[in-house]
Amino acid sequence: MTTCSCGEAEAHIIAKRKTFDGKHIHFWSDGDVTQILGYNIKGLGQPRTAEGFTANLAASEAIMPNVALYTFDEVRTALKQARKLARQGVTGQALRTQVREAVLS
Ligand SMILES: [Zn+2]
Repeated sequence: MTTCSCGEAEAHIIAKRKTFDGKHIHFWSDGDVTQILGYNIKGLGQPRTAEGFTANLAASEAIMPNVALYTFDEVRTALKQARKLARQGVTGQALRTQVREAVLS
């Protein structure tokens, strides 16, 4: 398991956001994304490799700024798409743009 940039080794919440339809989304330091109280978001699997964790963290960073614009269902779609793209090596602004287009189209 990787250590967060804040120095904490245990997985912990690094950001909380609310969707357009009022659902709470918690982003974790290990790349996981959950609903309130740590409930899993249906359809999002758990990464099993270091690359998977890294891709999930990149995906979280990419969608974090836009959560308030999306409904809960759109957040799930955005996360799935972002994780897939991140595993393919898409990063940064390109990742953010492609995810937004995938959700809003
Ligand atoms: Zn941290």
